[in-house]
Amino acid sequence: MLSLIDRIKGIDGDLVSPRVQFIYLHHVFKDEEKSFEQLIQLLSKQHFFLSYTSAVEKILTGTIDRPYISICFDDGFKNNLKAAEILNKYEITACFFVNPFIISTSSFEEKEAFCRVKLETIPIEFLEWNDIAILQKSGHEIGSHTMEHTNVANLDKNAFEDDCFQSFEILSKHCGNVKHFSFPYGRFYHFNNIAAQAVFNAGFYSCATAERGCHINPENKLAHDELCIRRDHVIAQWNPKHILYFLANNSRKAHRNNNLFPYGNS
Ligand SMILES: [Zn+2]
Repeated sequence: MLSLIDRIKGIDGDLVSPRVQFIYLHHVFKDEEKSFEQLIQLLSKQHFFLSYTSAVEKILTGTIDRPYISICFDDGFKNNLKAAEILNKYEITACFFVNPFIISTSSFEEKEAFCRVKLETIPIEFLEWNDIAILQKSGHEIGSHTMEHTNVANLDKNAFEDDCFQSFEILSKHCGNVKHFSFPYGRFYHFNNIAAQAVFNAGFYSCATAERGCHINPENKLAHDELCIRRDHVIAQWNPKHILYFLANNSRKAHRNNNLFPYGNS
């Protein structure tokens, strides 16, 4: 049996392997700010932080030469502003995946229903367009998380295509060059190849899941619409050793097929 020291050494060894790891969070509440900052410091020890777009490019061009990490946030909670402030201190940029519907509505009833039905949470404050402008001013990127945080598995092809075009158009109007998309819920059973293609057809450059894993260099250069981004969910208050354990585990299991959608051409 491995001693604790050997196990820790093993994790360290896995964490220095060249790869791109994406992590995503939803919130950094007031009582999570300190742990979030500590997590950033801890991850910086083994990893070089990349912007979301640069991380995507590293994979597509097969130029992953050290351990890289990129951070993003789903759902567009107001407290993401505080997370961004912390990231700004370390000159790290993130991508914030938002739902245009909830940014645009001022109805408390709609927000309450959205939180209850889509996010299974009590009402929470969301980013507004002026908050998003602040994020962009600090170099952060904005991506789409569908119009209304829909489980794509419940939509037909046309409805999802419309949703993709709509969120691309609204975000482009408010934020300029919008490139990235993440599927709500995001497991492989929440979408399929046709849905992924609809994302790219709408104009998005990248498409992300919520499947754990990391990325290593592909055998040959990948086209942008071949890349299936995997991301590990993280909560700032989790024990940092557990987070490192998950990331080391990804590194150990890294395979170039992780870069691809799992559905074949059907
Ligand atoms: Zn979400």
